[in-house]
Amino acid sequence: MQSESATEFTLNWQHPYQALGEVFYTSVQPTPLTQAHWVSRNHLLSQQLGLPADFLHNHTVMQMLTGNHVWPDTQPFASVYSGHQFGVWAGQLGDGRALSLGAIHTPIGMQEFQLKGAGMTPYSRMGDGRAVLRSSIREYLCSEAMYGLGIPTTRALCITASPDRVLREEIETAAVVTRVAPCFLRFGHLQHFAAIGDNAALKQLTDHLVHKHFPHLLELTEGPARYTTLLAEISQLTAELLAKWQAVGFCHGVMNTDNMSLLGLTIDYGPFQFLDSFDPGHICNHSDHQGRYAYARQPQVAYWNLFCLGQALLPLIEDQDLAVQSLETFKNNYPLLADQAFANKLGLGDLQTSDHVLIESVLQLLAREKTDFTIFWRRMSHAVGRLHTHTPDQAFEPVRAMFIQADSWDAWLPDYMERMHGTDWLAASERMLKTNPKFVLRNHLGEQAIQQAKMGDFSGVDDLLKLLQTPFDEHPAFEQFAGFPPDWASTISISCSS
Ligand code: AMP
Ligand code: MG
Repeated sequence: MQSESATEFTLNWQHPYQALGEVFYTSVQPTPLTQAHWVSRNHLLSQQLGLPADFLHNHTVMQMLTGNHVWPDTQPFASVYSGHQFGVWAGQLGDGRALSLGAIHTPIGMQEFQLKGAGMTPYSRMGDGRAVLRSSIREYLCSEAMYGLGIPTTRALCITASPDRVLREEIETAAVVTRVAPCFLRFGHLQHFAAIGDNAALKQLTDHLVHKHFPHLLELTEGPARYTTLLAEISQLTAELLAKWQAVGFCHGVMNTDNMSLLGLTIDYGPFQFLDSFDPGHICNHSDHQGRYAYARQPQVAYWNLFCLGQALLPLIEDQDLAVQSLETFKNNYPLLADQAFANKLGLGDLQTSDHVLIESVLQLLAREKTDFTIFWRRMSHAVGRLHTHTPDQAFEPVRAMFIQADSWDAWLPDYMERMHGTDWLAASERMLKTNPKFVLRNHLGEQAIQQAKMGDFSGVDDLLKLLQTPFDEHPAFEQFAGFPPDWASTISISCSS
C-alpha cells in the first residue's frame, strides 16, 4: 500500500554549501517529468541512511526524487566547477544535470543528496539536463557494485523514470538517479576558482572541505602546512582508490579532473567497464580514441590529475616544491598499495619484496592469453582451498584449463607454490574468496537488465542490485551471472553519451 502524505518525511535538511555564498553555486528548481514512476529502490541504503521503513514506498517521495515536487526545506542548487577533459583545459563546466538538495545527518554520517537528470541548470552548456534510463541504470548498479566490493564510491538510493523522450544517438526516455555521498566536490571545484584567479573563494572552499571532511587537519596551524597535508591526504586516498580499481579490473572511462572526487570516491559512472578478459590496453569508452583512459593508464592519469589539483592549490601552498612533495605520496604509495591488493588476490598475506615479480608474471600470463579476469581470480581462490586435500595438479586443474598455452601456467605455478609454502590453505582460500568477487557488473549483465527495463520489467535491475551488493557470496540461483561473457558482450559500444 502506498501512503500519500510525505509530511512524516520532513528530513532535517542542512545547507552548508549555500552558506559559502553565491559564487559557488546557482539555485535551480528541478524541471518536472510526466508520469513519473519508480524503477528500482535501494532498501539497503535507505536503511543505512536511517530513513523511515516506508520511505521508498511513498508516492510523494517518488515525486520529490523525480524533481516534480520540491521537498520542504531543501534548497536545490547546481555547483560550479571546471576541469581538464582528455588532458585539455575545458574551462567552466559545473553540475549540468545534477541538483543537490542539501545534506542530512544519518547513521553513516552527513550525506548530501543529488538528483541526477532533474533538468537544465546554468551549467548545462549544450546539454538537456537529462539522464536516460540506460545510463541511470548503469550508474545505479555500478555504484552499488563498488560499494559491495568495498571500493569508495558515491551511492544511489533509487531510480525514478518517465516516458518523456530524450534525444541521444536515438530517442530514449528520461530517468533520475538519487545519488548520495558525504560530498560531491571534485578536483574541478578547486581548479575553477584557481583558474579564475579568485584566491579568496579558493581558500574558502578548501577550508570548507577541510572543516567538513578532513577536520583532523584543523590541528595544523592554518596556512601552507594545512593545505600541503590536505594535498598529500587526497593523493593517498586517490592512490588507495586506484589500487582497488586496478585489482578488480574496473575501468572508469572518463577520468577527467571534473570526475575526480576530492574524497577519493568513485564518481560519475559513464562508459565504465569491468574487464572481461584481461587486456591492460583495454579502452572502455568508444569516444576515447587515443586510449588516454585505458585500464593500465589509470594510475598515471590519476597522478596527472593530482598534479592539476596541486597546481590549483599552489596559491594556498605557496611553495611549488612542497606541492610536488605532497604528490609524491601517490608516487610512493600507489605501487605498494597495488602490489598489496594483488598479493591479497593471490592469498599471499603481507607483502614481501619478491612478490612484485610474482604478481607481474601472473598478470603477464593473463594478458598474453586475455584470460577472463574475474573468473581467473575466483577459480584461484577455490583452488587454494582444495590444496588442503588435493595435489597442486588436481587443485589447480580448473585454473590451468583457462590457458591455451598451459606450459606458461605450469612454469609459474611452482614459484607460487614455493611462496605459499606453509600456508593454511583453508584460511587463505577463505580470505581470497572475500577479495576476489564472484560477481562484477559486466557490460552484458547491465545490458540485459537495461533491455528488460526498457520493456517495463525492472526485476533484472533489482536482481543485479542485490547480487552486486554482496558479490563475494555464492548466490547459487544466479550462477549464470558468474559465467564467461557471451560473444556479443564485446560488441557492446559504450560512449560518453548518457
Ligand atoms: P561528464 O563527462 O558526464 O562527467 O560530464 C561533463 C560535463 O557535461 C559536466 O559538466 C556535466 O554536468 C555536463 N553534462 C553531461 N551531460 C549533460 C546533459 N545531458 N545535460 C547537461 N549537462 C550535461
Ligand atoms: Mg562528470
